[in-house]
Amino acid sequence: MLVGDELYIATRKYLIDFGMRHLNGLGADHICKICIQNGGSCCRSCKHLINGIGCQNRNTSCTSWLCGYLKLLYYKAGLLKDWHTFWGEVPGIDFRKDYTPTLVKMKTHFEVTFMRELGEALANDLKIKLSRDKDNIDFIVLASELDELIDEIEFAKDSDMMTHFIQRLNYLIKDFENFRQAIKTYKLGGR
Ligand code: SF4
Ligand code: SF4
Repeated sequence: MLVGDELYIATRKYLIDFGMRHLNGLGADHICKICIQNGGSCCRSCKHLINGIGCQNRNTSCTSWLCGYLKLLYYKAGLLKDWHTFWGEVPGIDFRKDYTPTLVKMKTHFEVTFMRELGEALANDLKIKLSRDKDNIDFIVLASELDELIDEIEFAKDSDMMTHFIQRLNYLIKDFENFRQAIKTYKLGGR
């Protein structure tokens, strides 16, 4: 949830640490683990990645970026707009690097939400899906479809098109039983 509108100063390091805590609070790490094990990692062929060790240059750009699966997680948690608003205040976001200054003036405070089971449930569904599929192609294509569709939902606001896009989204994730159950458990409404 976004709170307050008073100006405060955050360090670049704080923003990155905060972003990681927020992602972990929703259990995004569970999803990334499955994705990496199955060759879908967004870090693939990045010069800052050391195999078996991880990222050597964590930055505001990669921390704020959400792939289709993480976008789905934030959308269903009702936190996607807040996430975008928060990172929209951070200057210098680029591709796999940032130009974010050491100190940043921020206005929005964004609380860490603890719903790790939500990400864990989605990760479990993705694991089941991958065990049924003959390769990881559908997994990668689905991430991209979710990415575009959720952008369209956000853009459509309350128009008739939004209902259509939401129906399409719910169709795409109809087999994600653990995730749908977790949405109910957390009473997220899950449009
Ligand atoms: S593509 Fe998404 S799920 Fe996969 S590693 Fe990157 S952020 Fe995690
Ligand atoms: S800089 Fe970004 S893409 Fe590269 S390894 Fe780090 S997190 Fe992954």
